[in-house]
Amino acid sequence: MNQPLISLRDVSMTFRKGSPWRRSEVRAVDHVTLDMDEGSILALVGESGCGKTTIGKAIAGLYRPTQGQVLYRGKDIWKLSKAEFRTYRREVQLVHQDSFAALNPSLTIYQSLSAPLLQYGLVPAGKTARTVVGEYLEMVELTPPDQFLDKYPHQLSGGQRQRVVLARALTVRPKLIVADEPVSMVDVSLRLALLNLMARMNKEMGVSFAYITHDLATARYLAGQGQISVMYLGEMVETGPVGQVLATPRHPYLQALLSAVPVPDPIVARSRKMLALRSLEMPDPGAPPAGCRFHPRCPYAEAVCSSKVPTLEAMEGGDRVACHLKERIPAWPV
Ligand code: SF4
Repeated sequence: MNQPLISLRDVSMTFRKGSPWRRSEVRAVDHVTLDMDEGSILALVGESGCGKTTIGKAIAGLYRPTQGQVLYRGKDIWKLSKAEFRTYRREVQLVHQDSFAALNPSLTIYQSLSAPLLQYGLVPAGKTARTVVGEYLEMVELTPPDQFLDKYPHQLSGGQRQRVVLARALTVRPKLIVADEPVSMVDVSLRLALLNLMARMNKEMGVSFAYITHDLATARYLAGQGQISVMYLGEMVETGPVGQVLATPRHPYLQALLSAVPVPDPIVARSRKMLALRSLEMPDPGAPPAGCRFHPRCPYAEAVCSSKVPTLEAMEGGDRVACHLKERIPAWPV
């Protein structure tokens, strides 16, 4: 069996907050384990504060886990030699949601894209950096490249800037791109084109994607044949093949998320039942509930749920669910 490209082994991440006199801790990620194969797409889904961005930064080597390991091709990234770590940082790229903040406003597009090419010596003999940057702009459908090379970030639209950011990630020939809400700040009409671009980068160039989003629809679209992991308050509550998990969600939290997704047909929308949560308040991540963290909101909670932490367990069909009552939770839609 092939070694995963990236693995998280029992990763936890704790942040300190407050003043030196009143310190408190927030455990943003709690005992998360996952694998990503080369060329795969994983959608990491959940509401704000669920820990998905922290996981993305741990995968990209920007955060060092307080517990557990991040393995790249089987090696702990924090025990790599200097040269290995440099290769890892080149091969695992992070794309943020805010393309404006990601690009230096005082540099032209050519200057921004040629810097990593020159830094890593990736300009092939017989070509100029300008030609190579132009080729990358063509790959992300910014054509003709001459119209974009000498522009500054503020002269481009949000969608064009995000294409530039993806092109910059491509210049260093990445194996994996951690894309953190890459389409959330782009006009709705341009989102599909960016998702299609990422799908093409995956299919034609073999680039893996860890796609971080709160939007189940885009997760389904981009990671259609891949995997999905659903996070709640720092823990993974359901994971498996996207089609399987979204067609037959078993965890009540995922059922609630799906039941809240708007549908365009008003007749279908009116006939669909929402999963009635016991509370709409998200608990404080600094003081998460004991037992199953979802129990104060879960309509199916029983006594065991407030005292015992459920662990991810394999179900028939290939998904894994962290719920004490997973065999008895009614199928959704109810
Ligand atoms: Fe709900 Fe209990 Fe399952 Fe948690 S373990 S999701 S509280 S039924």
